[in-house]
Amino acid sequence: MQLLQPEFISKSEHPKKRRGTYFIQTWGCQMNDEDSEQMGLYLRDLGFEPSRTMLDAHVVILNTCSVRKKPEDKAFSMLGELLLIKDTRPHMIIGVCGCMAQARAKEIRRRAPHVDFVLGTGDLGQLPGLVEEAAQKKRFQMRLDLPDRKGKVVEDVPQRHLGRAAKVKAFVPIQYGCDKFCTFCIVPTTRGRERSRPTEDILQEVRVLAEQGTKEITLLGQTVNSYGKNLLEGQVPFSKLLWKISQIDGIERIRFTSPYPRDFKADLIETIRDCPKVVESIHLPVQSGSDEVLRQMHRVYTVESYLEIVEELRSKVAGVTLTTDIIVGFPGETDEQFEETMALIERVRFDGAYMFAYSTRPGTEAGDRKDQISSKVKKERLNRLIERQNEITCELNESYVGREVEVLVEGASAKDPNKLQGFTRDYKMVHFNSGRECAGRLVNVRVTKAHRWGLSAELI
Ligand code: SF4
Repeated sequence: MQLLQPEFISKSEHPKKRRGTYFIQTWGCQMNDEDSEQMGLYLRDLGFEPSRTMLDAHVVILNTCSVRKKPEDKAFSMLGELLLIKDTRPHMIIGVCGCMAQARAKEIRRRAPHVDFVLGTGDLGQLPGLVEEAAQKKRFQMRLDLPDRKGKVVEDVPQRHLGRAAKVKAFVPIQYGCDKFCTFCIVPTTRGRERSRPTEDILQEVRVLAEQGTKEITLLGQTVNSYGKNLLEGQVPFSKLLWKISQIDGIERIRFTSPYPRDFKADLIETIRDCPKVVESIHLPVQSGSDEVLRQMHRVYTVESYLEIVEELRSKVAGVTLTTDIIVGFPGETDEQFEETMALIERVRFDGAYMFAYSTRPGTEAGDRKDQISSKVKKERLNRLIERQNEITCELNESYVGREVEVLVEGASAKDPNKLQGFTRDYKMVHFNSGRECAGRLVNVRVTKAHRWGLSAELI
């Protein structure tokens, strides 16, 4: 039985005259996913329909990521493939957007002269004009302006919900850019300084999403919990925004990612405890278990202050689950410092972690250091970390067997289309057998088996 795919409640209609098809390849974070969705809406408004493949698309957009080297390599490799396609279909329009476009526009121009335009992260609203100019065979275009004023309010986000396919889960960006300047990270360069959206704009977007059937939202920001500075309406603490959103009927769950440890204050912990719609699942990037490495990363917290947040969360929020981000092999990281990270995961016992070997990013402070760790050592450290973290994840998931949990059902499982897939409030993926009538609903299931990736269950 083939069930519906996760993004299943599509209702949007686009009455414009059909001009062709578009294909968007996205790398990177949820913010990029959101940007791609917005770009898709712009292209549909121009009369283009989505295509499953770039081979026959009239407009191809590469929405790139610069956080690590690998997605940049993939983007350049895809640009090579597109050169061959464009040789046979010269009217194809190729645009490169996202963080790599922002950071390496001139290099893209030099290495891939078949690209029609490069659009940075500052103003996606320029996409329709760039596509139209390319369609008229104007010369290569490059738009890279970023808001340069710290704290500028983001009032010009297009109404993302209009024409958007309705989904049971949706991401809502609330803040752009970052002021933290971690020494390994390119984001403050590629996305600009921290800016928040006005509260009412966010609430309006969530209200419409709720009307369309969305039950769960995830608020997005590079340091999401520092939301609300420099707004015209005055400072709005992130916890207050959570309470306001929770008053919107139809929204059952509120998540957010990613918070920054230093800004994780008592009012936020109390809101997670007291606000029924805010889920008990926190993704709190730690990056390293060594104070010295954290200092060199310019992460302005210590292991001890991080652990205090963890303890506070666990003592106040019943059943809270924790996930994190960890980088191994930061320049100069010693064996002892890596062992401190291993000790930290034993101490915290995260439910899961995104674990990466440090990737040298040109233009960052750490990228210029001479004491880079060899690939071999980084790989060994990463493998050890992943292996142990996976064991911990499995051990924690085992504790769910026999328990009854609430699942928000998204649709068919990607692994097995005969099964439904959803997530618990505390962000465990669950697979179970049931009919498609469950899709889009909150149901209770009993966990029958634990895996590293999540849980198997049966409908109650
Ligand atoms: S907090 Fe650090 S890692 Fe996160 S986006 Fe800002 S600079 Fe990058």
